[in-house]
Amino acid sequence: MDMTRIRERMVEHHVTGRGIRDQNVTRAMLMVPREKFVAPGSEEFAYEDAPLSIGEGQTISQPFIVALMLEKADLDAGDKVLEVGTGSGYASALMSRIAGHVYSIERHERLALQAKERFEKLGYHNIDVRVGDGSKGWAEAAPFDAIIVSASAPEVPSALKEQLVLGGRLIVPVGRGEAQRLKRLTRTGAAAFEEDDLGGVLFVPLIGEDAWTATHPMYTATAPSSPETFASEPNSPQDAKAGGMGKILPLPALPEGVLDHSEFQRRFWAIQRISWIVFTLLLVTCLLGLLGRGGPLSRQTLLLPDGSVDFPVISRWNAPEYMTVNFTPSSDDRIFTIDAAFLQTFSIEGVDPPQKATFARAGRIGYVFPADPAGPTQIVFRLQTQLPGPLRATIGMGGEIRSQSTFIFP
Ligand code: SAM
Repeated sequence: MDMTRIRERMVEHHVTGRGIRDQNVTRAMLMVPREKFVAPGSEEFAYEDAPLSIGEGQTISQPFIVALMLEKADLDAGDKVLEVGTGSGYASALMSRIAGHVYSIERHERLALQAKERFEKLGYHNIDVRVGDGSKGWAEAAPFDAIIVSASAPEVPSALKEQLVLGGRLIVPVGRGEAQRLKRLTRTGAAAFEEDDLGGVLFVPLIGEDAWTATHPMYTATAPSSPETFASEPNSPQDAKAGGMGKILPLPALPEGVLDHSEFQRRFWAIQRISWIVFTLLLVTCLLGLLGRGGPLSRQTLLLPDGSVDFPVISRWNAPEYMTVNFTPSSDDRIFTIDAAFLQTFSIEGVDPPQKATFARAGRIGYVFPADPAGPTQIVFRLQTQLPGPLRATIGMGGEIRSQSTFIFP
């Protein structure tokens, strides 16, 4: 399925529409098919501005936040870039469309291999992927013009700062749970960095030697330079829940209207469930309506000692119908009766051949026909349906009566 148009709309609404001006970034986003980076079955959600699960408890980041990080990294053709946290490979793929070469490091082997395969398939040949702890950077390939960290560290890893060229930019989320801030460090000297706060974000934790520990990823920092960080604070389930999203928080520094991923999913499923129910009801109504137009369940024959009655049991509102009364030739008492409830649901438009007489007794209407053995034995009542809904009517021939239900669809 060609998703070019949906991709264009996503870029228009969620990227340029929300303030991203760097044309290198928007061009790259129009080029890279995000649907190829999401888990099979999630392709239809690929252009929602939301993070999506990619397995191993990780997520592909929200497109807007990726765009923001790339814009703030101020990438240029010819730049050498490092991404820490390859994940699905989507952000690295975008960088590869702007910069000269991308080094991408991921701690989960399965994700790294999958990303590598995607790059090969899509022909993105300027990306090197490695499995490892990106909190230490990629010393052999350093220095970098830009480093983008796609997971949140307890504090800015010193190895990453050291692997920047002079003037290089490091974009990194720092902090725990909802207290995370997106930072940009620009190297201005051997040990001098300019720091900008880009707003509140929500990323999965950076797990590694110079980051959080794997055992308690969200709470225990391993970075030796930050003894007072979150290690001593009590664990909070709320923070743990917040950790896996990789999305923007609605803080004033960033555009509003970003929906929490789980909230988005909840709403989406609710709408989908309601649509299914409405659709099923419509389908059932149509099917039953069709059956009411001559289908096998639309009529029932009632047998009585003096004959039989072919009676509509499913019909449609405001439609012509008929009921056939068959007297046995030997019957010498040709009287057919119906109750008043029947006449609320059906009006009788005509009787063929017409009755000899009509009478009303005990809430019932009687139709009397000539008891002539040589005369017609089949009487057709031409009806018109009146009220929609269910009806239980009593019909009789001679002294016998039968009850019969009928349903008229609106
Ligand atoms: N940018 C990615 C994309 O476009 O799909 C999404 C990255 S996901 C939010 C964060 C990734 O960082 C996860 O795949 C996680 O396994 C990885 N990660 C966490 N700690 C890491 C570390 N120390 N070194 C390398 N990767 C790490």
